[in-house]
Amino acid sequence: MASIQVAKSLSLIHNLWRNSSKIRSLATTPTLLPLNLPRRLCSVRAKSDEEAAAKVAAANADSGGPTIFDKIISKEIPSTIVYEDEKVLAFRDINPQAPVHVLVIPKLRDGLTQLGKAEPRHVDILGHLFYAAKIVAEKEGILDGFRVVINNGPTACQSVYHLHLHVLGGRQLKWPPG
Ligand code: 5GP
Repeated sequence: MASIQVAKSLSLIHNLWRNSSKIRSLATTPTLLPLNLPRRLCSVRAKSDEEAAAKVAAANADSGGPTIFDKIISKEIPSTIVYEDEKVLAFRDINPQAPVHVLVIPKLRDGLTQLGKAEPRHVDILGHLFYAAKIVAEKEGILDGFRVVINNGPTACQSVYHLHLHVLGGRQLKWPPG
């Protein structure tokens, strides 16, 4: 009687082990869709977060108030400076989208909350910013391939209303950018 009980218990344990190993192998099977799904949902959510943040930032854009970049210029907030002269500051982006991701900004905003606000008086500083972007690319060793991006307004996901050039490189960049 006791030996029948032991045999039944062993058979139960064996079945449990077999099923759990099946579950383990299913969990590592790359075609198991539910494992991939949350990652896709996360990236969709991150994208809509950026768009929502850009809309909030745009609502305050014309207030003319200081932005986070004013605190970076005054060194109240630390940043990793890559290049600086009397007119512009270039520092590493806090949330880099490429191995090299540097922001180039005018030290004096002078109404340039975004490129769309540019006026004839800004021609010199705009040229200066682009030349500084080239100096940054040279310093970072990416002169053979880099991208300069300006996000203008909420539909371009601009989040800081102080004109800035993104200098991106250090990896193969894709096109179209999305
Ligand atoms: P936008 O989205 O307006 O084109 O770009 C703003 C950029 O500023 C973003 O890439 C964001 O990561 C960067 N940024 C925002 N706050 C800070 C900060 O406090 N320090 C640094 N270094 N970058 C920042």
